[in-house]
Amino acid sequence: MNFVALIERKRDGGAFAPDEIRWLIEEYTEGRAPDYQMAALLMAIFLKGIDGEELGAWTHAMLTSGKILDFSHLAAPKIDKHSTGGVGDGVSISLAPIVAACGVAVPMISGRGLGHTGGTLDKLETIPGFRTRLEPGEFRSLVERHGLVLAGQSDSIAPADGMIYALRDATGTVPSIPLIASSIMSKKLAEGIEGLVLDVKVGRGAFMKYIEEARELAEIMIGIGRSNGTRVTAFLTDMSQPLGREVGNASEIRESVDVLKGGGPRDLVELVLALGSEMLVLGGVEPNEATARDRMQKAIDSGAAFEKLVEVAEAQGGDPRVLEDPSLLATAKGDYVIEAERDGVVTKCDALDVGVAAMRLGAGRATKEDAIDPGVGITVEAKVGDEVSRGDPLLRLRWNEELRLTAALAFAGNAVIVEDGPARVPDLIMAVRR
Ligand code: URA
Repeated sequence: MNFVALIERKRDGGAFAPDEIRWLIEEYTEGRAPDYQMAALLMAIFLKGIDGEELGAWTHAMLTSGKILDFSHLAAPKIDKHSTGGVGDGVSISLAPIVAACGVAVPMISGRGLGHTGGTLDKLETIPGFRTRLEPGEFRSLVERHGLVLAGQSDSIAPADGMIYALRDATGTVPSIPLIASSIMSKKLAEGIEGLVLDVKVGRGAFMKYIEEARELAEIMIGIGRSNGTRVTAFLTDMSQPLGREVGNASEIRESVDVLKGGGPRDLVELVLALGSEMLVLGGVEPNEATARDRMQKAIDSGAAFEKLVEVAEAQGGDPRVLEDPSLLATAKGDYVIEAERDGVVTKCDALDVGVAAMRLGAGRATKEDAIDPGVGITVEAKVGDEVSRGDPLLRLRWNEELRLTAALAFAGNAVIVEDGPARVPDLIMAVRR
């Protein structure tokens, strides 16, 4: 087989046989094909698409590029959650410990920031010492001991996704339905889970801008789950405006601690409870959404959920003091506030502009080698439907480098619109598919 000939075939709209797909992924993950060839192939797939059979083979090749974990010896149900990526979407960091504190094992493999969207791993690594690269043995024993692990792909767990994900981020090939579906499902199926709750983001700040595309992505992932014996529920949720108040890495850890302590912004808390209750029901530890919500609330109120995050952070090498006192987490040296220029109602708070502005401040990466700046970010002071007066803060940019602040302002400056109203407040949960 010849890599260039296969790129050319896809470029010209042809299809691959399953053994060709296996070979392509192996060539790349084993270092025989360079980044530029895989990048060209990804762009050809992005432009020409792949059919259902190719997608099954592509996902399978990514899944079997590493080990597939087996937790069948554990009595607790094994259920995970994954988001397709958004702005201010720190849901996993509070959700996973709450659900684990309710008796469901959560072997969570997350990703890094992609484009203007944040990544759970980047956020967790702002906890000094927190290790997200775990070998399968350690990953397994953390799930056995704590019922929770928060890690990334290692060289052993879905390594093909780790490599391809980083390359897509730097080559404009992220928003492709088959590439997103195979990326998410390969790493999730490698976790040895019985059920998965997906948060498919829809709107300007998501990779899926329209509900129709999000529905298609959800159906494809539910189908991949079904053919691999894993039950999947997909929530389609709003990403026209950022979720919660914080967009950044350390700041989203602070916000997650607030949620675990019973506070936090209303929309973020609502989504955590909705996704988490589905996990408890899928796992069979609660009969319905109402009892599941009740149990989650008890885990928050008793402190068990927060303690679970502290326990697992410590087990993964993280300094628990920053969770007990989040003011010890990284901060930025300057604050720049964008204020309302008139009285009125917020009619738009653009998730894409806010996400790109946060990335320009240094909260995300422009190339896969870039380091992120843990302390910078944006606090969303006003969201759609909020009434504001002239001079009220709309966005607070926390910056470390002036040049980056200037670049961020080009996006943040017009991200929030104040008009006479009324505002159309988007539904947070747009649809649920099973
Ligand atoms: N999240 C993933 O894990 N992969 C993608 O491709 C997009 C979002």
